[in-house]
Amino acid sequence: MGKIKVYTGPMRSGKSDMVVRILKRYCLANKKVVYYTPILDTRTGVNIYIKSVRGEKEYILPVKRLDAEVNENEVIRECAAYEIVAFDEAQFLNEGIVELCQKLRQLGKVVLVAGLDMDYLQRPFGYMAQLMAIADDVTKLTAICECGMEAAFTKRISSSKELILIGDEEYLPCCGECYS
Ligand SMILES: [Zn+2]
Repeated sequence: MGKIKVYTGPMRSGKSDMVVRILKRYCLANKKVVYYTPILDTRTGVNIYIKSVRGEKEYILPVKRLDAEVNENEVIRECAAYEIVAFDEAQFLNEGIVELCQKLRQLGKVVLVAGLDMDYLQRPFGYMAQLMAIADDVTKLTAICECGMEAAFTKRISSSKELILIGDEEYLPCCGECYS
């Protein structure tokens, strides 16, 4: 039986690092893993290279681009060869991601999902709340606020009103006190 595991929290809480670290463990166990990131996120290269502890082996973690309008059947076909499927920045994906994750779990796959739980106005972001509801387990990560406290929120520091902005310059992790 498959599983859905969600890793969420504000920006700079290490969500992607966490997912890549888990994928690395599966790689080292010779499992077939694949990593999806939305098409608009161009920060990650084509592949992530993973070296074994002694450096004698190198694993290539394929990075695939996912359209925000998730084409379930296409992804399911693509995933046929993989045992572990990860979706990063899942807050940018449409509702199709929810059913897709459930289908992949039914197919026996381990599904890892990383994404922002809230937008900069503290509203549930995209379909992350639904993904958290259907998950087998949810890990809420925190970042560190500029004041040194744990940060559960993401604050916008640019004046742009656009919701989908990627990049560290526009946002800061923020604690409840500094947010207001
Ligand atoms: Zn603070």
